[in-house]
Amino acid sequence: MIDGNLLIGGKWVTKTEKIDVLNPSSGEIVGQVSKAGAVEAVEAVDVAYIAFPEWSKRTANERSELVMKWHDLIKAEASEIAQIMTAEQGKPLKEAIGEVLYANSFLAWYAEEGKRIYGETIPASFPNKRILVQKQPVGVIAAITPWNFPAAMITRKIAPALAAGCTAVIKPAEQTPLTALYLAKLALKAGIPAGVINVITGDPKEIGQAWMDDERVRKVTFTGSTEVGKLLMRQAADTVKKLSLELGGHAPFIVMNDADLEAAAEGAIASKFRNAGQTCVCANRIYVHEDVVDPFITKFIEKVRDLAVGDGFKETSDIGPLINEAAITKVVEQVQDAREKGASVLVGGNKISGLFFQPTVIAGATDEMLCMNEETFGPVAPISTFSTTEEVIRRANASRFGLAAYVFTEKLSTAIQISEALEYGIVGVNDALPSVAQAPFGGFKESGLGREGGHHGIEEFLETKYISIGF
Ligand code: ADP
Repeated sequence: MIDGNLLIGGKWVTKTEKIDVLNPSSGEIVGQVSKAGAVEAVEAVDVAYIAFPEWSKRTANERSELVMKWHDLIKAEASEIAQIMTAEQGKPLKEAIGEVLYANSFLAWYAEEGKRIYGETIPASFPNKRILVQKQPVGVIAAITPWNFPAAMITRKIAPALAAGCTAVIKPAEQTPLTALYLAKLALKAGIPAGVINVITGDPKEIGQAWMDDERVRKVTFTGSTEVGKLLMRQAADTVKKLSLELGGHAPFIVMNDADLEAAAEGAIASKFRNAGQTCVCANRIYVHEDVVDPFITKFIEKVRDLAVGDGFKETSDIGPLINEAAITKVVEQVQDAREKGASVLVGGNKISGLFFQPTVIAGATDEMLCMNEETFGPVAPISTFSTTEEVIRRANASRFGLAAYVFTEKLSTAIQISEALEYGIVGVNDALPSVAQAPFGGFKESGLGREGGHHGIEEFLETKYISIGF
């Protein structure tokens, strides 16, 4: 049982009121964290605000060294972190280890990128003037993160923020705070100064409101539901905060008639069933050209049948539990709706026990079905057929979301035509797992604002200052 306290100004602060952290696999309590509210949220901003001038004035090299020390400590304890993650989130241990490495790749990458925050000089309009453009850190930033990637969603935000010279207040998801607190502990151990990183757990509404009302918080970076993202956007208006939002997705996964079907089926498995389907870039709708639908389904369902459902700590498990009862209810409803509207369930289709759901394949999915429109966040793969490229592009784009999309084709011109026509921020062409630290991750439409990763990701934490010098 892990006891998690709040991290405020380099000190661990405990509250008598606690929140239980449950293992979704067994329902057992694996830890408790302090339940903070507005008071602690403001205290965290106080210390982050005080820490900002000193941290931001350090050289990029000094900050980089500390971020790399943090990275090295995480690397050394990757296995411990993964165990905490599996205990509170449920994902198979092999995926948890993969996430720790992925999370750490942001620290390594931004430790370097922080040294390349370049300005500009621009030719002036008069001989006795000079125009300089500088990039400066925005100030205190607030990061609000979800439960599906308890480590990576923290580092993807905090690595560029720290490298840019910002200080941070963080609120991890109430389901998975232990991973975040452990990472924060290692940040302190690495020598990242008190107040630069602060972690608050507790009431999301109260903490969120306190930060959104605070004019010292200059930027909010959020990953989570579209609903909460929209709320934060409204709340940000009063103090005109900068915002990055990574919200819901509804990824189309397109298999053309010239695709390598083995690679497409393998890709669909990787994209659909990672984290039991609980990622915002998971394939949600699989569109298969009518000429190849039968051989594709044969290959795909064979692989789905091989997926083992079970506790994340069991080495053989490929699919862990869903996060909570609401997640199960949603999946059950979507499968029932698809059945009622004429789809056939080829594999799975049922809850097993507790929070475990069978990996499920649905054939004959149509555009009216819930699963073809609403984010599933579970191990359900609906397959629909199409006849022409124009049709599949139109149907793929008919969504209020625009995060990730995938297309499998062996024809270069088709790859170019479709990837350019898709209204999505990320397109994987013959690639089901495109997320990496050096590339910009983010969505079109209601999937969000801004980008994380790459040089684009650090821009989100910088202000542009124009200095006009007369002499
Ligand atoms: P999900 O439905 O996947 O849990 P949420 O958007 O509810 O997604 O959660 C993502 C993050 O947003 C979590 O850290 C959660 O605590 C936080 N959150 C939820 N409601 C609010 C709110 N009203 N203000 C600020 N943060 C919130």
